[in-house]
Amino acid sequence: MTRTDVLIIGAGLLGCFTARNLKRYNIDVIVLEKENDVCRGISKANTGIIYSGYNNRPGTLKQKLCVQANGDFDELCQELEVPFRRPGSLMIGYGPVSDEIIARKFRDGMRGGVKGLKMLDGKEAEEMEPALAHGITSALLSTETGTIDPWDLCIAAYENAACNGAEFRFGSKVADIRREDGGFFTESSDGTYYSKVIVNTAGLSSDRIREMTEKPLIRLFPSAADYIVMDRSCGSIVDHIILHEGEDGKGLTLVPTADGNLLVGPTNREPDEEAAYVQEMRTDSDGLGLLMEMCDEFVPDLDMTKQIRTFGSLRPDPYYVVSDGDDVVRQEKGIRDIRIIEEDGLFSLIGIKTPGLTFSNALGMQIADRAASCAGRTGNNPDFDPHRKAIIRARDLTDEELAALIEKDSTYGEIVCPCMHVTESEVLQAAERGAHDIESVKRRTGAGFGRCQGSRCRRRIMDILAKGDQQ
Ligand SMILES: Cc1cc2nc3c(=O)[nH]c(=O)nc-3n(C[C@H](O)[C@H](O)[C@H](O)COP(=O)(O)OP(=O)(O)OC[C@H]3O[C@@H](n4cnc5c(N)ncnc54)[C@H](O)[C@@H]3O)c2cc1C
Repeated sequence: MTRTDVLIIGAGLLGCFTARNLKRYNIDVIVLEKENDVCRGISKANTGIIYSGYNNRPGTLKQKLCVQANGDFDELCQELEVPFRRPGSLMIGYGPVSDEIIARKFRDGMRGGVKGLKMLDGKEAEEMEPALAHGITSALLSTETGTIDPWDLCIAAYENAACNGAEFRFGSKVADIRREDGGFFTESSDGTYYSKVIVNTAGLSSDRIREMTEKPLIRLFPSAADYIVMDRSCGSIVDHIILHEGEDGKGLTLVPTADGNLLVGPTNREPDEEAAYVQEMRTDSDGLGLLMEMCDEFVPDLDMTKQIRTFGSLRPDPYYVVSDGDDVVRQEKGIRDIRIIEEDGLFSLIGIKTPGLTFSNALGMQIADRAASCAGRTGNNPDFDPHRKAIIRARDLTDEELAALIEKDSTYGEIVCPCMHVTESEVLQAAERGAHDIESVKRRTGAGFGRCQGSRCRRRIMDILAKGDQQ
């Protein structure tokens, strides 16, 4: 049996940032993750927007955390060496219903202290973004909205937490928890753990993990989302993140991503029941068709033949439930704000939807403070280092800088992924940092994210990983 002060279940954004912030204290932390790497749940399949806070109701914890986190984001990304841009966002409407919603969001933002908001008329918005269909009736500019590759942030949080002493156990699926001896015995696929405190950040399974020791209170009834990723040649069709607020409640989001592509989506639809049950994040042809129709209508010059991949996601929509015998009955209204559920040493984060990426560090910090004090250890860790070094990417360097690097490390001269200009050195460094398969290398280096989607580099990466395993 393994003992620790705090056991975290789930290594998505919230688990990794909670672990990172717990290591600010003198405290032992173990993170259990059922997959073989971090960021395999909803943290990898989202829109990647760093929101400014106008989308949330004033006075809610969601808005407070979002506003605070947005303000701190540049510093966080400097500490963790994660690429981050603030192109700003433009929320646009084409009629009275959307005009009303946009005006309300402006008021909500102003009341919540969101910086950089400005109402524009249709003409001003069209001048800013000439590729959008004519007829915009109003727009809300938010200069502080940003974009990030979510897995870059999650991997950075993981590496920083691990360097500060948090232990991560992959392929460790939690199957049961029982309260005993003033703490918790957790049965996982790789053994038994005893901890004083558990932080449950198991994403789409967080409701069921909580119910291993508590009565049902909140359950997740996921809704599905579809996305299309367009080639880099489409990345500059818009300058801002575009959030289209449709008259019929449906809308289109366009994100010129941190990596230069254009992300289109998400839809919002009922998932097929089996996919939701097994938590598979699948796309749906109707969902993708709807995105293409909306692009034709609202960004007519966007060449939809330049799609390079699609992906699906599931939103962890939370509802209160009441028990009825062995069943639970879902209450009518979904829960809109976030709740940190604290039950005698069990902290559960259930249904953390948008903007959970934006405030993942800020929320992780709050949980860490409370979990550390619950575990009885509040002394600061004098050795905590908030900084993490990223892998240097050949594609970000000038020719002179790259030549200087090749002088020191010749594998920076060997191109492995021609589409994304990823070198052998980057793949080797990813492997040293714990990437054991193609997907993990892809998320750490970008290899396979380009136009050919890995058909030219997959074999080479497998050879490099296999060679490393033999050594
Ligand atoms: C469609 C969509 C779009 C979004 N867009 C944005 C956005 O643009 N901006 C923004 O700020 N936020 C956005 N979000 C919100 C953000 O993505 C989430 O709030 C955040 O990723 C939540 O991370 P998490 O750590 O809770 O969950 P996850 O990333 O799902 O992590 C949970 C982890 O727990 C593991 N796990 C589950 N069960 C077990 C078990 N039994 N044992 C061990 N491990 C287990 C899983 O494998 C997983 O790795 C979006 C969300 C969705 C769904």
